[in-house]
Amino acid sequence: MKLLILGSGQDAGVPQINCDCENCSNARKNPDQRRLGPTIAFLDKEKEYCYIIDASPDMKDQTEIIKKAITKVKSQKSIPISGIFLTHAHYGHCSGLWSLGKECCDADEVMVFCSAKMSEFLKNNHPFQHLFERKNLALFSMKMNYEYPMEDFTIKAFKVPHRDEYADTVGYLIEHTKKVIYLPDLDYWTEDLIELINSVDIAIIDGSFYSKGELPRMTEIPHPPIIKTAELFKDSKVEIYFTHFNHTNPILKENSKERNEILKKGFKIARDGLVIDI
Ligand SMILES: [Zn+2]
Ligand SMILES: [Zn+2]
Ligand SMILES: [Zn+2]
Repeated sequence: MKLLILGSGQDAGVPQINCDCENCSNARKNPDQRRLGPTIAFLDKEKEYCYIIDASPDMKDQTEIIKKAITKVKSQKSIPISGIFLTHAHYGHCSGLWSLGKECCDADEVMVFCSAKMSEFLKNNHPFQHLFERKNLALFSMKMNYEYPMEDFTIKAFKVPHRDEYADTVGYLIEHTKKVIYLPDLDYWTEDLIELINSVDIAIIDGSFYSKGELPRMTEIPHPPIIKTAELFKDSKVEIYFTHFNHTNPILKENSKERNEILKKGFKIARDGLVIDI
């Protein structure tokens, strides 16, 4: 099975709308420095499946990338996606569902998997409500900490502390040949989460900000900064990738001191298009 990073930017991607900071300007000049909204795919060409985690506002471009990676998806209903797992109700993680509706490709019952609270949010709020009523999407409400058997892998959702204005937030553990965690958004690390990360082979985790004070309104968005997370996992044997980068993050700049520091410590930096064998 392959894991494909479809977007390693924070919700709004890089460049961000109307921003002329150094990272955003660089990304406009060099397309390989752009980062789409946070999404991963896990797919198998032979077994003909492709699932994604999260539906970012860049879903249209990300579907094109999927089409280059896999030619046929067995259970495909109008788009080359077997199902969509959602982490939470923030803009970068679910707004892309709207691009499967009547005004766009008018998809046919694409499966959406999420927590019970997230299901309630989607069923009861426009525009998502309409997508389910029209049967563009079909909902599956997941139990927490339960291993769901899929084609040739299992997937488990687990709760994560994050600002939950509309629903709740989960991370995912996928188990195939390797155990992989995808956890793009959280407010702080708990002992349980640290233990969980240390029990897997690969973890793709929140790297929104490099350090505190990167944004004037960081108290509103309390992600654990990379330097703190790197300290927590400095002795870990797990292959850790940072993702979900905010446009302000100095790690985005090639050869920046911060980027080199993190790489030197043995951590990896996710980028769009990266393929990992799992
Ligand atoms: Zn996010
Ligand atoms: Zn910017
Ligand atoms: Zn979020």
